[in-house]
Amino acid sequence: MSPLILLSFFCVILVATSQGSDVVHRIQPLQIHPLRLQSDSACLSWRVAVEAHNIIDWTVAPEGCEGYIGNYMLGGQYRKDSKVVADEAYEYAKSLKIRDIGKDVWVFDVDETVLSHVPFYALHGFGAEPVNYIEFFEWLAKGKAPALPESLKLYNKLLSLGIKVAFLTGRGEELRNITATNLKNAGYHTWEKLLLRGPGSENTTAVVYKSAERRKLEEEGYRIVGNSGDQWSDITGTNVGERTFKLPNPMYYVK
Ligand SMILES: [Mg+2]
Repeated sequence: MSPLILLSFFCVILVATSQGSDVVHRIQPLQIHPLRLQSDSACLSWRVAVEAHNIIDWTVAPEGCEGYIGNYMLGGQYRKDSKVVADEAYEYAKSLKIRDIGKDVWVFDVDETVLSHVPFYALHGFGAEPVNYIEFFEWLAKGKAPALPESLKLYNKLLSLGIKVAFLTGRGEELRNITATNLKNAGYHTWEKLLLRGPGSENTTAVVYKSAERRKLEEEGYRIVGNSGDQWSDITGTNVGERTFKLPNPMYYVK
């Protein structure tokens, strides 16, 4: 191994281990591709188009982008991009006049918004190879998904402002206990609502299902002051809330 490659490799280790104590950034550095540290312009363009929702309905990331996405997710940029989203959300939240009746809520999606699948995807091509859903649900059922650090910080700040939190996830009711335990273990110690897909909504798209759940929240008298998700289907449709915040996710698409 040449000195340059070794240097790159150790830089990656340094970056990946200097991001605080969260598990996401303690993924084994061997998952990052040391020779792909330079930005890959085609994969970067693809990611930007995904984030802008110009590319939709995709199932796997383009061939050849595994290294780029892996480096994006674990090399620090994903964390920085997530921080910008969380910081903007907090600046907005601070400007709100929160009522003291406990009815102002912030809706958070769960997966890739407050909990991370990176430990799974890091072992399965970062979205650039088809997901084996049996393996995926086995992993999910362990309830070990770590928090997205910036979202956890935002969550705590919102609570301190007097905003209630509603988790709205595409996970099914059968995962309620696992999801609740996982959330608590990851640091999300309280919530007003934990909304999962129940009977009758299994076959609807996320946009339809989540719009209906948010409408029910509003019918119960809640005011959705903010709404954070990693998918456009989290923040589009109806009853989306007074402001929406899109977290990055180049690993998978949910419509
Ligand atoms: Mg999600």
